[in-house]
Amino acid sequence: MNVAQKQAVAQFLDKSASYLGGAYAEIVRYEFKDDVIPPWQSEHKKDASAEFQKTAALPTTANDLKKIAGLVAECTLCALHRTRLNTVPGEGVPHPLVMIIGEAPGADEDKSGRPFVGAAGALLDKMLESIALSRKTNCFIANIVKCRPPENRDPASNETSSCFGFLQKQVDLLKPTLILSLGNVSAKTLLKTETGISRLRGNWEEFCGIPLMPTFHPSYLLRDASQKAAAWDDLKMLCARLAKIDGVYAAQTEELRRARKIV
Ligand code: SF4
Repeated sequence: MNVAQKQAVAQFLDKSASYLGGAYAEIVRYEFKDDVIPPWQSEHKKDASAEFQKTAALPTTANDLKKIAGLVAECTLCALHRTRLNTVPGEGVPHPLVMIIGEAPGADEDKSGRPFVGAAGALLDKMLESIALSRKTNCFIANIVKCRPPENRDPASNETSSCFGFLQKQVDLLKPTLILSLGNVSAKTLLKTETGISRLRGNWEEFCGIPLMPTFHPSYLLRDASQKAAAWDDLKMLCARLAKIDGVYAAQTEELRRARKIV
């Protein structure tokens, strides 16, 4: 097969996977993406080992966050591009204390092009505010995949692997002090594990040398409020570790404590 023929077959398989959805999307696989260079590799020589390596032509300025968003907006690497209204690359400050990584955009995010803007987003903002964090001042929020999976299903493994290079670039560029991962898909993808979030949460892990705290996704907390206490414990651990590293943040949390706005 020549490149055009392979791409035609790949498009057919992507479309089938998207139509079947869920577990079926996991089954439909193909092995000839070698002819389709991911956009994050397009600026430099294609090299399988370079896909997630920091040696790639890394963006070096805040403007390059926009450049990544531009590449995401044009991306057709997986079937999710066919059903999206908007891509959701992420938002926040360019040098965050904490990078928050969720799973995938939902309906509200798909409509707005912004991460965590629905009810789950409101809860996340409230959770962050209680430990002196905010996407406006000291956090960056992104997702494992940048396009909404139909019917809010979990992203399939071929979709997370197709999209992962964008997230890796964002982490390399942002260099957050800590990472907070939200939900099952995020933790499993970042930590390359099959262990579920109920067992992972509350324990420090690491991604690319950056300390990572896995916790429940706000959407899950909206469905099961009994888990909010556990999520709060995780946030307190994050807060305590960050306060030891960053003096300004420590002073902010102390101020919150004095004002009794933090439990
Ligand atoms: Fe591209 Fe990621 Fe969207 Fe798939 S989910 S089309 S890889 S941006």
